[in-house]
Amino acid sequence: MSSDEQRRGLMLALSSPSGAGKSTLAKMLVQRDAAIALSISATTRAPRPAEREGREYHFMAREEFEAMASRGEFLEWALVFDNFYGTPRAPVEAALAAGRDVLFDVDWQGARALRAAAPSDVVGVFILPPSHGELERRLRARAEDSEEVIQRRMARSAGEIAHWEEYDYVLVNRDVEATHAALVAILAAERLKRGRQSWLPAFVEGLLKDGG
Ligand code: 5GP
Repeated sequence: MSSDEQRRGLMLALSSPSGAGKSTLAKMLVQRDAAIALSISATTRAPRPAEREGREYHFMAREEFEAMASRGEFLEWALVFDNFYGTPRAPVEAALAAGRDVLFDVDWQGARALRAAAPSDVVGVFILPPSHGELERRLRARAEDSEEVIQRRMARSAGEIAHWEEYDYVLVNRDVEATHAALVAILAAERLKRGRQSWLPAFVEGLLKDGG
C-alpha cells in the first residue's frame, strides 16, 4: 500500500439554498472522482414515483428506523414534517477508515448535526447563487408554480443563506465548471491535512531513527 492510501477519509457537507446548483455540483464531484461517494440517507417517507431504493434513499418502516436509532446506528437523524430521516453510520465509518470520502447533500441543520457527530471529519462548503436576481430566476424556472409557492421558496432560501458563516468554505457559483474546480482544490488540500495522514507518525519516526 502506498503512503497516500493510508489517509483517513473526510466528510464533505455541501449546503446551499435550492436553485444555487448544489445537486449539479454534487453529481459532478461523484462522477469525476472515484474516491468520493454520496451518502444515502434512510427515511420513513414513501418513495416518489421516480425514486429507487438505495439510490435516493433507503426507504424503511418506522419500526425499523426507530430500532436502528435506538441502537445508535445513525450518525444523526431528524424528524422532518411527519417523517424520519437519518444518516446510517456504518457505511460512513467504513469509507473513512478505508481512505475514501463521503459527500453529504444536506441543509444547514443536517450539516450542523454532522459537525456535532464528527467534528474532525467534516469539511463544510456552502454554495451561494451569483445574485438575488439569478436566485429568483432559478426559483421561478417552473412556470406553473404560483406566486405564493415562489415566495415561500424565496423565504426558505433566505433562511438557508443565513447560516453561511457556519461553513469552512463559501463558494459563489457563477460558473459551474469553475465552482467544481474550486471544490476539487478544497478536497485536494483537505485530504492532505496532517490529521488525515494516518501514515505520518510512523514515517516521521522512521526518519528520526538512528541508521534509518
Ligand atoms: P425530501 O423528503 O424532500 O427528500 O427531504 C425532506 C427533507 O429531509 C430535506 O430538507 C432534507 O434536507 C432532509 N433530509 C434528507 N436526508 C436527511 C438526513 O439524512 N438527515 C437529516 N437530518 N435530514 C435529511
